[in-house]
Amino acid sequence: MNVAEEFISIQGEGKYLRTPSYFIRTTGCNLRCSWMNADESRTICDTPYTSFEPEKGYALDLERTIRAVRKSDVQPVVVTGGEPTLQPNLGQAVQRFIQEGYFVTLETNSTVYIHGIEQVFISASPKLQSSYAAQSRRLLKMHSRNNHFKASLRQWMQTNPYQVKFVINTEEDIHEILRLQEELHIPSKQIYLMPHGVDAETLRQRGSFVFDMCLKNRFNFTQRLHINFFGNTRGT
Ligand code: SF4
Repeated sequence: MNVAEEFISIQGEGKYLRTPSYFIRTTGCNLRCSWMNADESRTICDTPYTSFEPEKGYALDLERTIRAVRKSDVQPVVVTGGEPTLQPNLGQAVQRFIQEGYFVTLETNSTVYIHGIEQVFISASPKLQSSYAAQSRRLLKMHSRNNHFKASLRQWMQTNPYQVKFVINTEEDIHEILRLQEELHIPSKQIYLMPHGVDAETLRQRGSFVFDMCLKNRFNFTQRLHINFFGNTRGT
């Protein structure tokens, strides 16, 4: 399992917002998310060092990491990326944390399903059509080819505890979310909407219409605390 960084921070999104957690960020991703802004500039993925320009990283030393988690005295252990489901030994590592008694969250774009880790809390973040603003045909082609999440998300929903988080770029995104909710039968209480942005001001601006969407559709609203406090900074 190739890792870009491990750090202790406060979970900034979703159901376990505000919870001190031990993060393991894998490197490498099968998508190339990019969003168009109102001024026609683009904002790419907030961890490009694991996706657009993936770092080589280092092999996870499971025993060392378990000692570090134990010493940190925090959980959940959050395995994030990049896209962690691409890592060959993910299931084995996750099982080990569970055996050690830790609660594990797996943050995934939900394009890949993995058998045998049913105790893991799945934090799925399927990427909407608004994420298709890649700057080059090559990147767009890769994103389009790999961004098929419906079948694997269905499987995760059948086997694991889960939440489904959607990044909202514009007010138009709600139409696609409602279509997906109907098609995949996602209960409203499992859906979290969060404004897209890599700085606090953008989150504030988009946050007001995301708040209204949540209220109207009985979805959960989630802030992105780490962006609010630290901007787009590594290790937060
Ligand atoms: S799926 Fe996540 S890590 Fe991969 S490019 Fe999109 S935002 Fe970045």
